[in-house]
Amino acid sequence: MKKIQMVDLQGQYSFIKEQVNNSITQVLESAAFINGPEVHGFQKELEDYLGVKHVIPCANGTDALQIAMMGLGLEQGDEVITADFTFAATVEVIALLKLTPVLVDVDLDTFNINIEALKKAITPKTKAIVPVHLFGQCANMDSVMEIAEEHNLFVIEDNAQGIGADYTFKNGTSKKSGAIGHVAATSFFPSKNLGCYGDGGAIFTNDDALAHMLRGMVNHGMYERYHHDVVGVNSRLDSIQAAVLRAKLPLLDMYNKKRRETAVKYTNALKNNTHIITPVLANGKLEADNNHHVFHQYTLRITNGKRDGLVKFLNENGIPCGVYYPIPLHKQKAYTDNRYNEADFAVTNQLVKEVISLPMHTELDDEQINFITGKINEFIN
Ligand SMILES: *Cc1c(COP(=O)(O)O)cnc(C)c1O
Repeated sequence: MKKIQMVDLQGQYSFIKEQVNNSITQVLESAAFINGPEVHGFQKELEDYLGVKHVIPCANGTDALQIAMMGLGLEQGDEVITADFTFAATVEVIALLKLTPVLVDVDLDTFNINIEALKKAITPKTKAIVPVHLFGQCANMDSVMEIAEEHNLFVIEDNAQGIGADYTFKNGTSKKSGAIGHVAATSFFPSKNLGCYGDGGAIFTNDDALAHMLRGMVNHGMYERYHHDVVGVNSRLDSIQAAVLRAKLPLLDMYNKKRRETAVKYTNALKNNTHIITPVLANGKLEADNNHHVFHQYTLRITNGKRDGLVKFLNENGIPCGVYYPIPLHKQKAYTDNRYNEADFAVTNQLVKEVISLPMHTELDDEQINFITGKINEFIN
């Protein structure tokens, strides 16, 4: 059996090696390292794939979130609501911009922002909602968009884990994740579903004026060379990373399909274990009919208190795994706030003790999947 990796970037590279090497060589020979034709080409191709008017490439997903918030003109003291159960980048940029993060609880079955908690958190100071499409499944965007409209709030999608997912609204229309809110941010960190070979990110929007604002903001607030109209940052996607992304974008749907196939195999092998809750819904399906899951992570809940034991047991057996995330954001030193009430975070407080994410990538084979699920069923019984 091949050694099991949490993310198998070497296996993935060997499949696209020739193409990636050729594109990188072209960049080296053209010496257009910054803002070269590869960056513009990738931007256009991603706009087409997502069905969104504007993609603004930038240096990483955290910058993408920050710049999106800068572009919306949010001001000190404005409240921005996001999920308590996510990667810290989401809340970090809110705090960095001196906005007020308001963390709310999530749902037990989808790990995404809880709609009742979101409604309860809205005050006259609330200006924006940041739904995170955690682990590759969209938040309940029907409700998020309805609430945003009702209260006149911006929606900034954190799509770092959801790229390629489709969401179908109650009225039957379908959109790609990241093409739903006013603006969205994504990351091309190597382990993401669409990853480059270093850091990279992008902002998406359908709003022409906002797109113009953002294009200047990523480049020192310049709209005309050496004229600085607004305070910006320096955040660029370099041409070599864009070349890698251009080689991988046509494969994204195939990558996501393979992730989904792996998820089905994991679920079939684990769903009868009474102490394990697989990422299926109450109706036994992998996902809701309207919400196509791209499994950035395949995350189980271990309900008999043996999650930490399982992590140790799997590691001893050469199976890497991850706990995303071990500490709720509202309990992180940097983000505690005496406005928070523990009773409001019952689900996140439970999830941090139960979740475990299994190896998930496009190169896992049946032998490896059987070995992983066999070991889990051996330990959790
Ligand atoms: C990865 C990630 C980010 C940040 O992306 P970087 O490119 O690492 O800066 C933000 N939010 C979520 C949910 C992520 O998973």
